[in-house]
Amino acid sequence: MIAQGFKLLIRSFMDFVFISECEICGKYLEDSKMIVCKECLSKIERVDRFDIERKFEEKFAGGFISKAFSCFHFEENTIVQKLIHEMKYNNKRSIGKILGEILGSSIRDEHDFITADALLPVPLHKIRKRERGYNQSELIALGVSKVIGIKVISDLLVRVRNTQTQTKLNLHERRENVKDAFKVKNKYKDFIVGKKFIVVDDVITTGSTIIECANVLKQNGADKIYALSVAIA
Ligand SMILES: [Zn+2]
Repeated sequence: MIAQGFKLLIRSFMDFVFISECEICGKYLEDSKMIVCKECLSKIERVDRFDIERKFEEKFAGGFISKAFSCFHFEENTIVQKLIHEMKYNNKRSIGKILGEILGSSIRDEHDFITADALLPVPLHKIRKRERGYNQSELIALGVSKVIGIKVISDLLVRVRNTQTQTKLNLHERRENVKDAFKVKNKYKDFIVGKKFIVVDDVITTGSTIIECANVLKQNGADKIYALSVAIA
């Protein structure tokens, strides 16, 4: 715990001392917690609608997700992968907020999304959250919320099993890995009934995590579940 705090302190100090430059254009960054400037960020290629629909059809067919949206492709050795990595593992929290704002701007005219009752970040297990110090999906959800004005409820979904990291697992293993990993916090059981929720994650790969969250919400009486992620694999 103390070592973790010390590491964070050192990191903030490094950010303070070293001037950061945009990894793409080399321009000085006002926010040292970013790795690319806003202008370069706005130029990163977006997933087109046709692509999104095809991918979600593959991942969510027959399930409880009524609608889904992602901004970017998640591919190896791209700036998007790097941004997400820095956000998750290197304490670059402002990346989460900014990616969330981009995501929010992309859906600000989508009726289903903007009439939802709440944004629900995919929760981390409390042990993982303690190690990292924050939940990246929550940062993204806060960015989305800033644009579309829908509240974020961070503690409605709870991760009850500290699942292993999914990076090296195949589809079947991922499904098993997240099975029964989530629960709804008791105090929200009445609130959920008949409501529409947007589940927010950083990356949708197989969709297993979001599907599992949706199952739990549905079992507790939610009306509709939408999915939102910064990137899609
Ligand atoms: Zn730049």
